[in-house]
Amino acid sequence: MLETDVLVIGAGPSGCVSASILQKHGLRVRVVEREKFPRFVIGESLLPRCMEAFEEAGLLECLKREGFQEKFGAKFMRGDDVCDFSFTDQFTAGWNWTWQVPRAQFDHALAQEVQAKGIPIDFEHSVVGIAWEKDSSVTTVRDASGVERQIKARFIIDSSGYGRVIPRLLKLDKPSDLPSRQTYFAHMSDRRRLAFSEPNRITIVLSQPGLWVWMIPFAEGTTSVGFVGDPAHFQGFSGTTSDILRSLIQADPHVAARFGDQDFIWEARKLEGWSVTTEKFYGDGFVLTGNVTEFLDPMFSSGVTLAVVSGARAAGIVAKKLMGLPYDWEEEYMKPTLAGVDVFRTYVKSWYEGTLSEIFFAPSHSFHATFKSQICSVLAGYVWDQSNPFVKKHDRALKNLAQVLRLQRDQQGDA
Ligand SMILES: Cc1cc2nc3c(=O)[nH]c(=O)nc-3n(C[C@H](O)[C@H](O)[C@H](O)COP(=O)(O)OP(=O)(O)OC[C@H]3O[C@@H](n4cnc5c(N)ncnc54)[C@H](O)[C@@H]3O)c2cc1C
Repeated sequence: MLETDVLVIGAGPSGCVSASILQKHGLRVRVVEREKFPRFVIGESLLPRCMEAFEEAGLLECLKREGFQEKFGAKFMRGDDVCDFSFTDQFTAGWNWTWQVPRAQFDHALAQEVQAKGIPIDFEHSVVGIAWEKDSSVTTVRDASGVERQIKARFIIDSSGYGRVIPRLLKLDKPSDLPSRQTYFAHMSDRRRLAFSEPNRITIVLSQPGLWVWMIPFAEGTTSVGFVGDPAHFQGFSGTTSDILRSLIQADPHVAARFGDQDFIWEARKLEGWSVTTEKFYGDGFVLTGNVTEFLDPMFSSGVTLAVVSGARAAGIVAKKLMGLPYDWEEEYMKPTLAGVDVFRTYVKSWYEGTLSEIFFAPSHSFHATFKSQICSVLAGYVWDQSNPFVKKHDRALKNLAQVLRLQRDQQGDA
């Protein structure tokens, strides 16, 4: 039987960050990964805050070598209304840029660097069961040819993303409080991108209330394009997934002007019902990180940032535990992880309810620069900065600002 101090399930960004930090603490780490890399996964627009976690894990330099498209901000559009956020204007001190990445290449680069550090990754090994013992566990993994083997570990970090290994085995899953949404997306050629002042940020187009589009340009000239909304928005369309995405593109004037005659790099894909959470983020002998804890929504690109920040935080606590130092899962992990998720939850809800678009698309003279910089920091992923009122009192701050802007608009209408 193989033995290790920590078994990490999943070699996505969260697992790679956890594994690297644990190794820095001198612990023996092993990663098991169901797929063969490079593999596709969605989640291509990063937030500046994630750079801190990659730096802490010693994974930033390998990413810099890949030449990914730099991302300096986020642009929101509704018809002719535009609200452009530049991360250099943000309130919180920190990173003011990041990347837009094809995840197959990005995750592969991370995993290769983890292996180069001497951490074994067993690709095409899927976790099928875990037997819990008093101070350890024995995990059964099955390889692509069906052969099973056991790995004994003092602790398990479950970073299995949409695989949700431990919540499924222990029946911890619980529904999210967000409604189920759908997306149709593809990578596309983007020959006219320069005419749209691209490619150095994500563009979000509010196509109709509750239906929005992401456009994420990549360094080699293609762009990720996806429509997201309630399933009802897609019911009137028919044909293949690519036919439906093509029809959606043609139905939006801004998106059609840029992508109406562009090619799909691969057949469009459809996803739905991604929001799910769990009863608890840790237990005897394990912790959950990244998407396994809770994934909210693609709006605001929070996924990878929450994944690597939670991965880094969990690894630090596991190291303390295994070295016999004091630690507190509730205070040091559960509460801060949930606090960050809750800030994004407010922004996601307020986007779909329309409050955020009232703020974003208010006349530029009425959206005060200080408030804009504070909201910009949330969009950059700095959702733990309690000196930012749009973090500390996220819900109230957004509602108050929307109300003030509404009053100003009404007064201007009366004048
Ligand atoms: C439509 C949509 C759009 C999104 N857009 C963005 C975006 O723009 N920006 C952003 O930051 N996030 C985005 N996300 C979220 C993003 O996909 C995730 O948050 C991110 O990939 C989480 O990283 P992770 O490391 O936790 O998990 P993953 O990247 O999913 O990695 C988990 C790994 O675990 C492996 N695994 C699973 N089961 C097993 C098993 N049984 N045994 C062994 N290994 C296993 C998987 O193969 C996988 O490689 C989006 C999500 C959706 C649904």
